Amino acid sequence: LLDKIIRMEKVEVVSHLAASISHEVRNPLTTTRGFLQLLNESKAIPEVEKSYLTVAMQELDQAERIIRDYLTFAKPAPEEIESLNLKKEIERTINIIVPLANMNIVELSSELESCYIKGNAGLFQQGLVNLLKNGIEAMPSGGTLSIVGTVEKTLAKVSITDNGVGMTDLQIKRLGEPYFSTKEIRGTGLGMMVAFRIIESMNGTIKVESEPGKGTRITLSFPLNTSG
Ligand code: ADP
Ligand code: MG
Repeated sequence: LLDKIIRMEKVEVVSHLAASISHEVRNPLTTTRGFLQLLNESKAIPEVEKSYLTVAMQELDQAERIIRDYLTFAKPAPEEIESLNLKKEIERTINIIVPLANMNIVELSSELESCYIKGNAGLFQQGLVNLLKNGIEAMPSGGTLSIVGTVEKTLAKVSITDNGVGMTDLQIKRLGEPYFSTKEIRGTGLGMMVAFRIIESMNGTIKVESEPGKGTRITLSFPLNTSG
């Protein structure tokens, strides 16, 4: 038990720190990106030098992606553990991901049973967004992302299924390893690590089933919160 408390405190400290950093760092990044864009449109700057600007903007975009995978929903306030209506939280998260799905011609389908689990809403959404994003990104020429939530005995189960590129056994083994990404410059390799940590901090488990060329199903299981 003591072990668990210490671990939970660590998660709290880390997420608190992370949230502060995100708030402080995001604004200057955005401002800098804006000024670089302005310079890029200037007629006084030779094309060769504009290529430096392009690289600088790409690097800022990567920094923004890293912050997003880590900290989209983090709040500087201490993370509160509450009773979460799983159906409601998943629906909110799906709404956040709609624009990305549309951009990739991915249809979102959901079938959700109502139930309660314990956790922090912001963290849960961050974890889920990272998983949904990966599902969408796994289908570069479109497809369907299906999210199903059911209650099985004492567990709430959430499955996220895509019919995308899938993964080899070796790739499945490396999931959650920091900086493991097959997306070259567009990947951070942080999304899964963050999702795994959040789900584990909620006493949840993760099962990954995947086949190259066919698709991936990720199934999360959480203990139901029966204490109201
Ligand atoms: P990123 O998305 O930035 O690459 P992640 O940590 O989110 O980093 O994911 C790591 C890697 O896991 C991805 O690059 C991809 O190779 C693999 N992956 C994760 N989810 C899926 C999925 N649904 N389908 C196929 N590959 C996936
Ligand atoms: Mg990702």
